[in-house]
Amino acid sequence: MNKPSSDARSTRVFCIANQKGGVGKTTTTINLAAGLATLGKRVLLIDLDPQGNATMGSGVDKSTLQSTLYDVLIGDTTIEQARVPSEAGGYDVLPANRELSGAEIDLVNMQERERQLKSAIQAVATQYDFVLIDCPPTLSLLTLNGLAAAHGVIIPMQCEYFALEGLSDLVNTIKRVHRNINADLREIGLLRVMFDPRITLQQQVSAQLESHFGEKVFKTVVPRNVRLAEAPSYGLPGVVYDKGSRGAQAYISFSAEVVKRVEAMD
Ligand code: ATP
Ligand code: MG
Repeated sequence: MNKPSSDARSTRVFCIANQKGGVGKTTTTINLAAGLATLGKRVLLIDLDPQGNATMGSGVDKSTLQSTLYDVLIGDTTIEQARVPSEAGGYDVLPANRELSGAEIDLVNMQERERQLKSAIQAVATQYDFVLIDCPPTLSLLTLNGLAAAHGVIIPMQCEYFALEGLSDLVNTIKRVHRNINADLREIGLLRVMFDPRITLQQQVSAQLESHFGEKVFKTVVPRNVRLAEAPSYGLPGVVYDKGSRGAQAYISFSAEVVKRVEAMD
């Protein structure tokens, strides 16, 4: 399916995480995957959420799957067997559906239970430039598997009053994972999404984020844009559904910004 790259170490694994629900994680994962694909990058999107929204939004029907991430996590199959192409997006998807919620229970009794995803990814890492993991809105064992496998975390957030408060729980979890499970987990990037510049409070929180987190805040700001919200019902990434829309353009610049950051770190 994909040609191997020369060096697995150049593969970047990012979690898109925020324990808050509905903040734009899945929208960011799908559009970053498709945006990176348009830049010629080989991308695997892993749907780590039993809701299966990233699967459906990539144009893959979650109700007719042969095997899913669940089967990979419990060791019944490999990513190579379970992945499917997103024809619309130009990337591969390791899909999920509600079966995945059972993994929490099955994993508890396994050895190295928080490292199952990491070892599964290692087997295909040379085939991709980027692996993007769409996390569920929890700090659960599933999310822990994502963080244990990642080099970095991209945190989409809305510039609202309680946004900073929720952020400290996530940042503390990331620090704990870095200390105890995964020393490779380092990079943190904050992405402002669903931004409405007409709302003064959003401007204030956005400025606060910049002064607090500096370089960690991505320059690109994703506006609130209805085309991004419509796209999943057509099984298309927003950047494919309406490439000229403001939302799509923002995710295309964001993808370029991610590539630039990664290159600067090499
Ligand atoms: P969950 O926590 O349930 O997994 P999430 O963090 O993945 O949610 P999304 O599903 O990406 O969030 O987005 C929540 C809703 O907001 C969706 O209906 C999505 O289409 C919409 N949405 C996301 N980003 C934007 C945007 N920039 N402009 C307008 N609507 C958006
Ligand atoms: Mg989601």
